[in-house]
Amino acid sequence: MISNLSNTSKWSLYFNITEGCNNACCFCASNSPLQTKQTIPTLKVCESLSRYPENSICQIVINGGEPTTHPGFKQILDCAVGTGGRVILFTNGRMYANNEKTIESGIHRLYRISIPIYGVVAEDHDRLAGKIGAWSQTVWGLQNIDKLRELNRGPVELELKLLAISPSLPNWPNIVDFLGKLIKPPERVVLSGLILSDMLLGYQQELRPTMKELNYPLNEAIKRLRTLGVHLILLWAIPWCALDSDNLKYFLGQTNNHAVNEAQPEVRDIYFDYRFPEGIEIKPKDKDNDYIRCAQCQYILHCGGMPAYLKLTP
Ligand code: SF4
Repeated sequence: MISNLSNTSKWSLYFNITEGCNNACCFCASNSPLQTKQTIPTLKVCESLSRYPENSICQIVINGGEPTTHPGFKQILDCAVGTGGRVILFTNGRMYANNEKTIESGIHRLYRISIPIYGVVAEDHDRLAGKIGAWSQTVWGLQNIDKLRELNRGPVELELKLLAISPSLPNWPNIVDFLGKLIKPPERVVLSGLILSDMLLGYQQELRPTMKELNYPLNEAIKRLRTLGVHLILLWAIPWCALDSDNLKYFLGQTNNHAVNEAQPEVRDIYFDYRFPEGIEIKPKDKDNDYIRCAQCQYILHCGGMPAYLKLTP
């Protein structure tokens, strides 16, 4: 249990409320035989949230597994919204295929909804998601959310996620074009991939692209997304040295902007799942240290450990 819930701290709370999911993505920890599909009981989540001083929670992330499959999802959302913090939902979006359920779910109270898409045709997406029909429901969900956002009845921000694994990666530029026709541009797009620990756990090695395979779809998709004015987030699983110089400068510019904001008050991160229903504190790390980023990269043998940003230095 977090002992010092002082009035002066700000809190960012991250809940994996369930290990259960209606997809069975071939790379996902939720789909591992080690998982027992356990949940944090609804009342436990609400009780934990109520322990934080009023107005001290700046954000609550609700994740899983697939959080919308938690039997108490709606009540958990009520409790989270009641804290006054921004609520961010990570979901595969399938529940939102049903228009009525989408409205009833209280989606308008979310600050951000974050949804991954793996392909422009059902076959590619469903092969990775492990469920026939997953793509159709995710796409209908995105369309429903888009319509509600147009009526100011949706979340403030839509975030889409692209995953750099086969067979999704070669289609990234097409996914960007497809989404551009399907919905209005989202506020954010996260570019992600499998992380090294996933590989060590024995998830399918052949899903990881080579540096050569990464190069074109990554840089072309980023170029197209930049023309849409979308805010891009590049996660650690994508190596900086896979970026062409124009795209690298774009992301380095983001890092510099981040440095300007460091005067903001410190926010303490607490993580919850069924093993830690009271929460454990995640100690701050130097997440934006470029040397650490390169040292932990799964492609380090490709570049010999020369940090990508140094290659730009004359
Ligand atoms: S939808 Fe998300 S939680 Fe569910 S199996 Fe896929 S990656 Fe895992």
